[in-house]
Order: sequence, then C-alpha cells, then structure tokens
Amino acid sequence: MCGGTQPGQMQSAGDGRAASTAGTQTDSAAGQTPRLSKVNLFTLFSLWMELFPSVAHLKKSQVKKAGLVVVKNMKIVGLHCSSAELHAGQIALIKHGSRLKNCDLYFSRKPCSTCLKMIVNAGVNKISYWPADPEVSLQIEVSNPTTTEDAKLDAKAVERLKSNSRVRVCVLLQPLVYYMVQFVEETSCKCDFIQKIAKTQPGLNTDFYAECRQERIKEYESLFLISNEERHKQILRTIGLENLCENPYFSNLRQNMKDLILLLATVAASVPAFEHFGFYCNGSQQTREMYHQSLPQEIARHCMIQARLLAYRTEDHKTGVGAVIWAEGKSRSCDGTGAMYFIGCGYNAFPVGSEYADFPHMDDKQKDREIRKFRYIVHAEQNALTFRCQDIKPEEESMIFVTKCPCDECVPLIKGAGIKQIYAGDVDVGRKKADISYMKFGELEGVSKFTWQLNPSHASDQEVQESAARENGVQRTTLLDDPQHQSKKLCLGNH
Ligand SMILES: [Zn+2]
Ligand SMILES: [Zn+2]
Repeated sequence: MCGGTQPGQMQSAGDGRAASTAGTQTDSAAGQTPRLSKVNLFTLFSLWMELFPSVAHLKKSQVKKAGLVVVKNMKIVGLHCSSAELHAGQIALIKHGSRLKNCDLYFSRKPCSTCLKMIVNAGVNKISYWPADPEVSLQIEVSNPTTTEDAKLDAKAVERLKSNSRVRVCVLLQPLVYYMVQFVEETSCKCDFIQKIAKTQPGLNTDFYAECRQERIKEYESLFLISNEERHKQILRTIGLENLCENPYFSNLRQNMKDLILLLATVAASVPAFEHFGFYCNGSQQTREMYHQSLPQEIARHCMIQARLLAYRTEDHKTGVGAVIWAEGKSRSCDGTGAMYFIGCGYNAFPVGSEYADFPHMDDKQKDREIRKFRYIVHAEQNALTFRCQDIKPEEESMIFVTKCPCDECVPLIKGAGIKQIYAGDVDVGRKKADISYMKFGELEGVSKFTWQLNPSHASDQEVQESAARENGVQRTTLLDDPQHQSKKLCLGNH
C-alpha cells in the first residue's frame, strides 16, 4: 500500500506491484516462494532499528527511539537510530552529508520539522515513514514543558516543508502475499537457531518457539501499533493523513501494519533470548581476548535478525540466506548504535540483471549437475561484500552475521576481506554435498567464530558447580566424621 495525503495516491500501490512483477527482479517467481518486497524490507528494518540495543540504553529502562534506513539505488547504505542527544534524521545528516542526495529514507516515525528541513535541503528523493506515533511525540515525552501545541505547530511546519519541496513524503507499505506470514513462520521454525535449541534440549516443549513468538507479537504490537483506533485516527489527522482515516483505507492500513508487525515478531523469535543460548566460540577456542572482543549478545542477536529478514528476499526458492556486515569503530559515535556502524548486507540471488528463466534452479536432487543452480547463485555473503557501502578497515573490529554456516566458497572471501568475526549458525558445519560444502569453516583460523549454542562457560560453570557440590558433599561427610570439627560445631552452637 502506498498512502499519501490523497487517497488517490493509494492507487499507486497497485501500480507499484505491477511494475515490480514486470521488472527484472524475480518477483514473478511468487508462485513458488513468497518474497518480501524491498519497500517492506526497508520498512521492517526501520522499525527494527528503533529497537537497536545501545549500550547506554541497556542500563536505563527502554528509551523510545526512532529508527532510520538510508537507501541509495534500492540498496541499504545506512542503518541508524536516534540517540539521547540527536534525532535519527540529524544523525543521517552527520554521517552522510550531501551523499543523502537522491537517497530514499525510511523512518520508523514521521520526522519532525528540525530533521525534515535539513533532509529536504540535502536533496533526498523520498521519505517514507511508519504511520503511527510521529517523532515529535518523543520530545513531548522527554521534556514536559513542550505541549501538544508544539506538536501541532511542528506538524504544520512539516506539511509546509513537504508541500514546498520536490521530496515525496509518504507512507509506503505494501500488502504481504497472503501466505507470506505462514511461510515465514514455517521457515523460522526450521531455521538453524531454533533447530539447534530443539536438538540440544530434547526434553524441551516443542512449542517454545510459538511461545517466544507470542511474546514478541504482544511486545511489538504495543510498540508499533496504536491499540486504540480512535487515537490512531487522531494521530493520522495530526500528521496530515486525514484521508487515511476513512474506510476502507483505515482498515487496510491497520491490516498492513499488523501483518508487518506479525512478520517482524515471527522473525525476531527465530533468534530468541532463550535460556543460555547465544553466539559463542566453541569451548576450547574461547580465549579471554576473544571474550572481550565479542559483542554483547543482545546486539549479536539484533544483527542476526536483520540477516534473517534479508533471507526473505532470496531468489533461491529452497534456501533463503541473509548476511549483514557491521563494524565497531574505535570510539562511540553520535549514532544511537554507539560505536557500531553498518557496512553492507545481502541475500542469495542470481547475478544482478538476470531474468528468472536465465539460470537453472535445481538442487542436488537433480542428477544432471549442469542444470543445478549452484554455479549461478551469488551467496548472501558475496552480495554483502560486493554491495558494501563502506570499506572494511583493518584496524577496526568488523563482523559478518550469516543465517547459515558460510560455505567453502565464502569462508576465504570473508577472511580475505579482513572481516574479524563471523556470527553464524553451525548446523551445516562439516557437511559436504555434491555442489556445496561446509568443510573450511571448522578449520578456519585468524577469524573469530561465534556460533549459536548453549553458553559453554555456563555449561562448564554447571559442571564446576556440580563437581563442587559433589566435593562439598564429600567434604561435609568427612568433616562430620572429623571429631575435631564436630566439637567446633558444638562450640559454635553454645554461643
Ligand atoms: Zn527530528
Ligand atoms: Zn557461500
């Protein structure tokens, strides 16, 4: 759906879909696997960036932020979120400057006039935002003297800035294919991370994924959806979307929003904060140094969920893989992401510009090796490296998050590119198929590998505790048998 101030603009939703079906991107393959549209992917990323766990915010209670995705030529070139001092739009300006020219910006909240005037000035092409609480509501919550009067004034200024510029400020949400959510749920349940938990804990209630998912749905609906419909309409009117308050536009809008939240929750639950699971080096490889280099688990999970979202743009109808590269600068920056900054992302797909029918799509089951897909598919890691928007600096920590184990083709590429850390699932490690194998990852040295598993130090802690308990038990009996100790105990009892 594409809704602006005019209901007529919503018509362009249909146009947009028709155009993408006819395009070279293989949306025409929708008959096989539902794909997430780029616009929806960017929108989901903007919401997700609002939840980026920054270190400063981890200490305090959850502070509401705004998320922002900067897109150039339909490729992500920046992922940001507001900080305590700066708005997301201001951060984009600091980070990208005049490179914002012709970019599309996806905000998780309608930007305030302070941000909008600078963004418009920088020459951006399009601004899309999530049609719920606008950014200005964050300031009202923070500083009490600001009133709804200021919010109204700001909304007016925003409208004026919008109408006096060439920039398109609009709501870009597209309806999901009707079985998309179901598909995402099924594949999330089968992903490496959930599989690993299920395998490691065989006694576990099989519904734990469904439970994680329900929790996320509840949480994200309260964050991203205005539960009261009348209040939602009121907000839409304030931010210049009064035409979306009428049905069927209003109910369509809410349905689209709900579906996207459901999808986000489903994917987020596939890398859950579950007991002592996380991204760790295998027991013997874990050194103290590595422990200090590794990211906080919340951030590692957050980035992996980005990679999981990207996997739903795959052109390989059997296995979607997503990869995202981040780096950690030497010091904290003004960004709400702290010292972390985005380098690049990708998913597995056929070479750019190819038509769906150009290449074979068969897998190992096909006897004739010539008509298998493996020699044509560009892997998620390869796309993330190719279309990165920043250099990988050797003096900084850089990390790639991949939804599956990197294959033998990608492992030397990742190392050669100077990436220092790999976060991945390891279900495929050591496997060898006819046309794709995962033998090199296990032997790879010089790159820290953090795979999804039960915290090994917790496991060894448990062992230590257990053996300590056993020893204590032994000690206790010997002590009790020790007459000297018994007398001591009696003495103490007398006090
Ligand atoms: Zn702002
Ligand atoms: Zn690969």
